Amino acid sequence: MKPVITVIGSINMDLITITDDFPQQGETVIGKSFETKPGGKGANQAVSAARLGAQIQMVGKVGMDAFGTEMMAMFEREGIQADGVGQNPDTSTGIASITISNNDNRIIVAPGANHTVDAAYITEFNEVIRTSDVVLIQFELPLSAIMDAIDLCAAVGTPLIINPAPAAELPDEYWLKAAYITPNETEATKLFTDVDVSVLERLQSKLIVTKGSSGVSYQEQLIPAYPVETLDTTGAGDAFNGALAVALAEGKDVYEAIRFANGAAALAVQKVGAQEGMPTRKELDAFLT
Ligand code: ADP
Repeated sequence: MKPVITVIGSINMDLITITDDFPQQGETVIGKSFETKPGGKGANQAVSAARLGAQIQMVGKVGMDAFGTEMMAMFEREGIQADGVGQNPDTSTGIASITISNNDNRIIVAPGANHTVDAAYITEFNEVIRTSDVVLIQFELPLSAIMDAIDLCAAVGTPLIINPAPAAELPDEYWLKAAYITPNETEATKLFTDVDVSVLERLQSKLIVTKGSSGVSYQEQLIPAYPVETLDTTGAGDAFNGALAVALAEGKDVYEAIRFANGAAALAVQKVGAQEGMPTRKELDAFLT
């Protein structure tokens, strides 16, 4: 039986332009190339977990536009159940407009439909959440929806992984409701440096801090990353989180789950792009043996 994971999160189309020069204010420049790639942390993590063999239920929103239709087709291709993805006729699908020039980038995110996911919408998925082995959430949705999802998971007893990216403050009691919290180093510093000592003590067994090519720190131990030739670290955290959810949903212990997730991320950074780089279960099993 495949483990069931619900991913509640963002769905974006990435619009990527490569150019020699960034335009100055009021200037137009001719770029070199343009492409679109499915993205958004929620969708990326769903793809990571689906390729590793879990049954994924995606909860989020897209617009009723061409990008929304493309994202729905992507979910179908990846075998991700998308009944929980609403198509909102009143707003656009979320996009990230990414301009890349000589290893430098400028990014504008227009959240569109992602920002119309509210607490009332999340509450519709009470039963889906209750019957999942693990729920995975990131911070690219409105905070009110995230808080509602955290409350629902706690109420029905489904283990929740919070990937607090991008960093946003939450009242302490919400952090305490998570099974695991997976900030990267920057997010961890921002969110947990000033937390009350007694709260931090209770968070110790939940905090899995990713540290790029160094690996992961958990309970004051470093679980090293796999030394690999890195091509593109976009989506490393997403590969990690999707894989961590799969391993935990399969009943692996947390250290084993972190090693599994480190492996998935190590394969992802050897390929260009976020979703394209996510390994299959076969590839990951071969890498880990
Ligand atoms: P984010 O992408 O969210 O900023 P990190 O950069 O901390 O997150 O990366 C997440 C995980 O991906 C790391 O804990 C590690 O397992 C893996 N990883 C990231 N960069 C590399 C790398 N250069 N080589 C091997 N593994 C990596």
